[in-house]
Amino acid sequence: MNAEIIAVGSELLLGQITNTNARFLSNHLAELGINVYYHTVVGDNPARLEDAITIAENRADLILFTGGLGPTKDDLTKEAIARHLNTSLESNEEALNSIVAYFERAGRSMTENNKKQALVLKDSTVLVNHNGMAPGMMYTKDERVYILLPGPPKEMEPMFQFEAKPKLASLLNKADVILSHVLRFYGIGEAELEDRLHHILEKQTNPTIAPLATDGEVTLRITAKTTTTEKAWQLINGAKDEILDLVGDYLYGYDNDSLASKVIELLKDQGKTISAAESLTAGLFQSELASIAGASAVLSGGVITYNEEMKVHQLGLSAEMLAEYGVVSEQTALAMAEAVQQKFKTNISVSLTGAAGPDAHGDQPAGTVWIAVATDQGTSSYRLQLSGMRNTNRLRAVKLALYYVIRTLIEEDARKI
Ligand code: ATP
Ligand code: MG
Repeated sequence: MNAEIIAVGSELLLGQITNTNARFLSNHLAELGINVYYHTVVGDNPARLEDAITIAENRADLILFTGGLGPTKDDLTKEAIARHLNTSLESNEEALNSIVAYFERAGRSMTENNKKQALVLKDSTVLVNHNGMAPGMMYTKDERVYILLPGPPKEMEPMFQFEAKPKLASLLNKADVILSHVLRFYGIGEAELEDRLHHILEKQTNPTIAPLATDGEVTLRITAKTTTTEKAWQLINGAKDEILDLVGDYLYGYDNDSLASKVIELLKDQGKTISAAESLTAGLFQSELASIAGASAVLSGGVITYNEEMKVHQLGLSAEMLAEYGVVSEQTALAMAEAVQQKFKTNISVSLTGAAGPDAHGDQPAGTVWIAVATDQGTSSYRLQLSGMRNTNRLRAVKLALYYVIRTLIEEDARKI
């Protein structure tokens, strides 16, 4: 089965909003093993929408629409589709009842155009909207499936996930089992990863291996399609072993892991605590960790020593050392990490100091960052030369610091055994 997503809305074409619905749907369709060949965006114009449908019908078995199911004049998706498919709209009792109930709950009075929302394509399967008023629809004609979804992501996403996706899955060949497993890498660029895995990526058919790069992170999604779950895992694990033989050093986690969640998980598993002394990131490192539920079990806290004076007052760094080597230096990073480890009495501590940019810091060019990781086994330092804008550099420094913590925790644990 191959699919096309048609997002309806002039605000998409005007650049006022981003088409996140297409991204969301593509992601979930890939999990079902459905190929998405085209993303189309069309304005709130019935003639152009009908043209887009005609084009999509020539190249897709499944057409998904988002947007334009609301009650206002510019919401015309289902009317245009009904006309195109030569069918009519009829009021759906279940949908009407839920709209009436919605207005009663909200204590508002219902207007006539709200009733329009209970109109659905004749003979379609209604997709219930648990987060808004407009129902979605699934409709089949000439072996082609049409799925109509509302525009607002908070309505569209759960409707697709819980109403449409299971129905699509049962439409697909039931004998197929499709399983995906995501490998997460850090510290290696997408180009280098693809280069090293060149011969594996080239020959892939089943499982398929799809690389994706975001924010310095690279993921590989391995998807196997076969008859049983066991066979699917065999295919996935075979590919995974081959991949990790070549780039396993850069792997930090799987599936829904993030760098921060992995740090928290490792610390919990090893019964360790963490603290940080932050200069250029001013708390961002600790904030990333605190965004993960359960961080309080392992994150003790830390200090923000943004200026030189506070590095002396709060951490007890020597003013002479700072004067000799500078604030952005390996010596300062090492001293900050060790000082905060002592102050907070944690098993592991991190320091970040650098020139976020756009200006240089003394003789240190913009983007120069020193990170140190201190544990009872010793302190390591890392020099980065980042080339992004100020806040990209700050975020990148945090992610790299999290990555170094992961490496340190894994290596020290391996040494223990
Ligand atoms: P409503 O009942 O809210 O009018 P609707 O189904 O008619 O919903 P639209 O009017 O097309 O949908 O869009 C409503 C809002 O949903 C938009 O203003 C936008 O915030 C969001 N939205 C619409 N399409 C998309 C999309 N493709 N990606 C992300 N957000 C979208
Ligand atoms: Mg609308």
